[in-house]
Amino acid sequence: MLFLPLLDGAIAQPERPEAAVLGIDIGGTKLAAGVISPRGQVLSYQRVPTPADQDAEGLFDAVVGLAEAVRSRCRLPVAALGVGCGGPMVYPEGVVSPLHISCWREFPLRLRLAESFGLPIALDNDAKAFALGEALFGAGRGSRALLGMVISTGVGGGVVMDGRLLHGASGNAGHIGHTVISRAGPRCPCGARGCLTAYSSGTGLVSRARAALGR
Ligand SMILES: [Zn+2]
Repeated sequence: MLFLPLLDGAIAQPERPEAAVLGIDIGGTKLAAGVISPRGQVLSYQRVPTPADQDAEGLFDAVVGLAEAVRSRCRLPVAALGVGCGGPMVYPEGVVSPLHISCWREFPLRLRLAESFGLPIALDNDAKAFALGEALFGAGRGSRALLGMVISTGVGGGVVMDGRLLHGASGNAGHIGHTVISRAGPRCPCGARGCLTAYSSGTGLVSRARAALGR
């Protein structure tokens, strides 16, 4: 049985529990799409590097093309779309301005995907989506509380309590990546200094290694 998060964070059964869900992950380094069975099994999957030097429409076309390609390789009907995207975003409207995707600023991703696919959409911060996925089908299955952390181009997090994904007042609950570790620390892509992301993200680690090696 596959469950979808409602906007208020509760977990509910989809209208067609026998149908699959198309998942899309949009990050600063890679795009991924997969068709997921009602039991949480990945039926088809593909990931590609996030195209660089694209404008907003070019990147959107790449996302739709990848998702359509993955859907076409699967026989099960797809009932809904689940999308994780780097933040920040206006939640739950799904207007995104990902720190690590400079061509999307206030891009109406949820609306555009709804127009392209004509399916119900759950769109959230990628780290929150990851935390919910682990709570339902992964490392957190059966546990009462879970903190999921993503360390990739940035650092993100999400919290699931009693089967509910926490959203917080602005949709950013659990997002620890921009917690300031040291006010005198390195500059973070968000503009602040010394965020956890500036130290421990993939890009932050590379920058620190370069500095240590004098390159
Ligand atoms: Zn930051």
